[in-house]
Amino acid sequence: MTGDPFANTLERTFARLRDQDLWRRRERRSSPQAPSVQMEGETLLSFSSNDYLGLASDPRLVEAWCQGARRYGVGAGASHLLGGHTKAHHELEEALAAFVGTPRALIFSTGYMANLALLAVLCPRHGRVFEDRRNHASLIDAAGLAQADRHRYRDVAGLRRALTKAGSGGIVVSDGVFSMDGDMADVPALLTLAQTHGAGLLLDDAHAFGVVGPQGRGTPAAHGLGHDPALVHMGTLGKAFGVFGAFVAASAEVVEALIQGARPYIYTTALPPALAVCAMASLAIAIAEEYRRAELYERIREFRAGATQLGLRILPSSTPIQPVILGDAGRALDASARLRAQGLYVPAVRPPTVPAHTARLRVTLSAAHTRDHIERLLAALATLPRDTA
Ligand SMILES: *Cc1c(COP(=O)(O)O)cnc(C)c1O
Repeated sequence: MTGDPFANTLERTFARLRDQDLWRRRERRSSPQAPSVQMEGETLLSFSSNDYLGLASDPRLVEAWCQGARRYGVGAGASHLLGGHTKAHHELEEALAAFVGTPRALIFSTGYMANLALLAVLCPRHGRVFEDRRNHASLIDAAGLAQADRHRYRDVAGLRRALTKAGSGGIVVSDGVFSMDGDMADVPALLTLAQTHGAGLLLDDAHAFGVVGPQGRGTPAAHGLGHDPALVHMGTLGKAFGVFGAFVAASAEVVEALIQGARPYIYTTALPPALAVCAMASLAIAIAEEYRRAELYERIREFRAGATQLGLRILPSSTPIQPVILGDAGRALDASARLRAQGLYVPAVRPPTVPAHTARLRVTLSAAHTRDHIERLLAALATLPRDTA
């Protein structure tokens, strides 16, 4: 035995992770997020980012960030309730509320924290939460921390059964676009069911804003739905908007409840104001530059057509998340390594992030990819060993 109280247990955990091909590692990128990245000294064509509109390294946003920093400095210096809330945060909140079509919006430092805050405030202890099995980890953790009475569902029919059995009230929680499969939730069905049973709907549109619906206004807008007081909308600024941070768009009452009572809102430093200035510029670009979504959807179409022709196992996704299912973790790692040897960066996603036996290459596409990039990806995928199972 060593004198280190942690080492022995941790070594056993590490050995198990390595045995099961579940060891995770970080790679050092030394260039901006873009289709072509410098990683560990190599130039790679990347299909891994959530920068769906290609805005993360847009020079106009770099300039907006610098202007914001010149005006406000680099740190907010305090929490929102104790002097950290700036005009820049406030304007961004108003712009986001107008974008989503809700009475109000509230900025959070991360989507993870926004979800923790939402369930803490919207779900009384032992209150009922109905959650899609494929929900993002932050929603799952949020329901756990809220000490909710949890009901998992697999599909709309399962949700209907769970709601009927449980009685009136509670909150239905779902990703708008599922982060590992790329498909969209049936938002009209979820909202109707929730309302029929006196429940609310919390929709996490982290992967939808900027991408899905007219002008990228999210999954409800994609289904022709407007604001509804039963619907609470969460989005992030770090994916299609290319920046960082998150927001909740909802009724004035829900936003006020978060300000008054949500610990992940109250007890943390406000987002750097320069970042809010930058996100404001990004939102304007994302709305105005429709051609980015057109390019993105063209790349999605090209990829799906090519992958289908190759006989790859893809999923019914109409979004930039286009996983190629490979099965076990070792096979996904091997495929990722083979693509890497051909100059492509396509990370493997393994359990527990995805269910057992569905390890995959998580291909994500961006408006910044060209047709030629997609062809390179398809040519490399064609060289992978065929499924012998
Ligand atoms: C990325 C993501 C989050 C977390 O957002 P961050 O701002 O990165 O913390 C939450 N929910 C979903 C569905 C996500 O994909």
